[in-house]
Amino acid sequence: QFNRRKPFPRGRVLSIAGSDSGGGAGIQADLKTTTLLGGYGACAITALTAQNTLGVRGIHPAPADFVVEQISAVLEDIGADTLKTGMLFSPEIVSAVADAIRQYTLPAVVDPVMVAKGGATLLEQAAVEAVRERLLPETYLLTPNLPEAETLCGLAVRNVDEMERAAQRLHEMGARHVLVKGGHLEGEALDVLLADGEIHHLRAPRIDTRNTHGTGCTYAAAIATFLAQGLPLGEAVGAGKKFITRAIETAIPLGSGHGPVNHWQAAWD
Ligand code: PLP
Repeated sequence: QFNRRKPFPRGRVLSIAGSDSGGGAGIQADLKTTTLLGGYGACAITALTAQNTLGVRGIHPAPADFVVEQISAVLEDIGADTLKTGMLFSPEIVSAVADAIRQYTLPAVVDPVMVAKGGATLLEQAAVEAVRERLLPETYLLTPNLPEAETLCGLAVRNVDEMERAAQRLHEMGARHVLVKGGHLEGEALDVLLADGEIHHLRAPRIDTRNTHGTGCTYAAAIATFLAQGLPLGEAVGAGKKFITRAIETAIPLGSGHGPVNHWQAAWD
């Protein structure tokens, strides 16, 4: 139902994230998601990664001022309805992106990417403080998984009660709305949304697959696209949850490691 929205393209999303040469996560996931949902995707690349389904082999970050140059070039001409951030890597890039979000006053979906599934560091340790101090206050919707929520708020986050507490704490730290994603829990895939002071639970069955590369990026990009298309927050997150669930159900067994989620099939169904 997602790809029959007309007229196309509807909703402009500027994704500020890292490139995944394997095509399943990062900027590539964001652009595929936004495009397949009928939106217009632009990008500011924070870092190149050399990676495949087996993991990240190398990272080549962009200078922070060149990240800003990409953001300015897009926003001063094409414009955007929402921003989406992913891998920001260094404290300099985090701070520069936070300043840009404030300057352009656009709603930003912030996926606080820290570590790849294979273990590679996508956010330097020294940048965590910059995320807390500089980025959270500029965040419209923060989308941490459980380890990211724990790192950012310093609380244990291992069950639904703790997810609700973490969402509240991250809101107090500056994020306007918070979606804590429970994919790392056992059992059903339950996410907790704290929006305008109210807690909502989003549920989906657990899907048994090793092909989950790009889940976080894709979920946040779908929400950013639905917001850009004018959906209210609760509906955008609900539609994003359906999209990512379908993308995992139909994930692609490419390579010999963790294959990518299926953006195309999720948008088609
Ligand atoms: N590479 C880049 C550039 C990313 O932005 C991300 C996701 O956030 C990843 C890799 C990690 O993807 P995953 O942990 O889903 O394998």
